[in-house]
Amino acid sequence: MSERLPDPALVVLVGASGSGKSTWARDRYRAEEVVSSDALRGVVGSGPHDLDASADAFALLETIVAARLGRGLTTVVDTLGLEPERRRAWLAAGRAAGLPAVAVLLATPDGECRRRNAARDRPVPAPVLAAQLTRVRAVADELVDEGWDVVREVTGPEPPAPTTPAAAPATAPDRRTSAGLEVVLQVSRFPWGEDPSAWLRAVALAADRAGFAGLALMDHLVQIPQVGRAWDPIPEPWVTLGHLAALDTSLTLGTLVTPASFRPAGIVAKHAATLDVLSGGRAFVGVGAGWWEREHLGFGLPFPSDRERLDLLESGIETMRALWGPGTRAYDGRRVSLPETTAYPRPVGPLPVIVGGGGERRTLRIAARLGDAVNVRFDPATFDHKVAVLRGHCREVGRDPSDVALTVLDLPVVGRDRDDVWARVERLRGRTAAAAYARRTHAGTVADHRERYADLAARGVSTVFVSLHDLAGPDDVEALAGLTR
Ligand code: GDP
Ligand code: MG
Repeated sequence: MSERLPDPALVVLVGASGSGKSTWARDRYRAEEVVSSDALRGVVGSGPHDLDASADAFALLETIVAARLGRGLTTVVDTLGLEPERRRAWLAAGRAAGLPAVAVLLATPDGECRRRNAARDRPVPAPVLAAQLTRVRAVADELVDEGWDVVREVTGPEPPAPTTPAAAPATAPDRRTSAGLEVVLQVSRFPWGEDPSAWLRAVALAADRAGFAGLALMDHLVQIPQVGRAWDPIPEPWVTLGHLAALDTSLTLGTLVTPASFRPAGIVAKHAATLDVLSGGRAFVGVGAGWWEREHLGFGLPFPSDRERLDLLESGIETMRALWGPGTRAYDGRRVSLPETTAYPRPVGPLPVIVGGGGERRTLRIAARLGDAVNVRFDPATFDHKVAVLRGHCREVGRDPSDVALTVLDLPVVGRDRDDVWARVERLRGRTAAAAYARRTHAGTVADHRERYADLAARGVSTVFVSLHDLAGPDDVEALAGLTR
């Protein structure tokens, strides 16, 4: 199978009549992404073969190509592609738009082109086709000299890129993907209608069936603007996770993340230990410094300074660990002293603490000292740097870097196919330009995201928390099953 082409991109097709250009494009791109001189001849002339309409058709084609590229949108130019001046102009326009430029050469055998041409309603005259075939042979070298980012030669019938991944193995013993990653569903919006409990249960059961390793909830008192409106419901996560713990699933359950400023750490330790016991050892705790002043003030909670909240985060993890450890003895730690640690029930097993946030000076240092894992928003530009900073802190505090797992929060747009992906981008993007929104959300099919997650695994990520902007219910969760294979 061929390697995936860059996307978004400028894609210029090159090949004789009947070589399969339009078919190749139709199998891989949305109709709106393909700009075809034949189709435009049909729009401004009597039909795709109306050569008298060529000048008008090409004028339109250039306008459309420029407009799409200017918006950073994938543009597939479906013409013969044999004229070097036109190709160079498109290449320059693609460069100016900052898009990778791809030339796709349909090097279908001459006899096959002739046969397909002859079978058409209006075949190209034989001498014209012969001239095209001669040109095609020269073009292969020209493309190399022109400086395209990718030159892809398609030599024969090629299966279209798969939109659904191969079937899963019959048993997935440890809920890791074939790339070794755990995928956890983060549920952050709750369009639960008349029956919140039924909706939550259905979503959790769907996540379990779809092979997710766990289910995470945000911990906010008011729905955050990044997700929804302030009057949208957002349930208290520990109560809600307790509800989900009673279901027969193997999902791990926890928060991403609980602000240290909301509850005294001892109470969070109690919540989490109780959840762990009720779920048979499936709990995890995400903790962070908290950031949203509004929800604190609105609920009568103090909103301490950045520094104090980070202090709370650090002492909070220490407190939780003290209360989960064996025995009831006094605890005298680095930032925390407790006269006794009489806290029952104790968690079933080691209860993972995931420190949320990428603050380099303090948050990552706290994660290095006290976390089982760290969680950052995945940004390809900064990720490796954050990891290096974390590793540096680990060395300084004498912790083995491999003891702090890397987890990322991913907020993707996922669609069934290219058309569905784009429909979702249009629905969700608000006033953000479509290309920018698609880039930010890595908009793509399940197969696209699976490939991206394999990349993340290769960069050392152990767990991806996936949160969908448009999660409506269990069907949307089941549609993600391919991500967990
Ligand atoms: P274009 O002139 O280069 O745009 O070629 P088309 O995509 O219109 O294809 C010409 C003819 O070849 C059509 O009848 C297609 O159905 C057929 N065709 C295109 N690609 C393939 C292929 O990969 N395999 C087979 N068997 N037929 C193809
Ligand atoms: Mg065609």
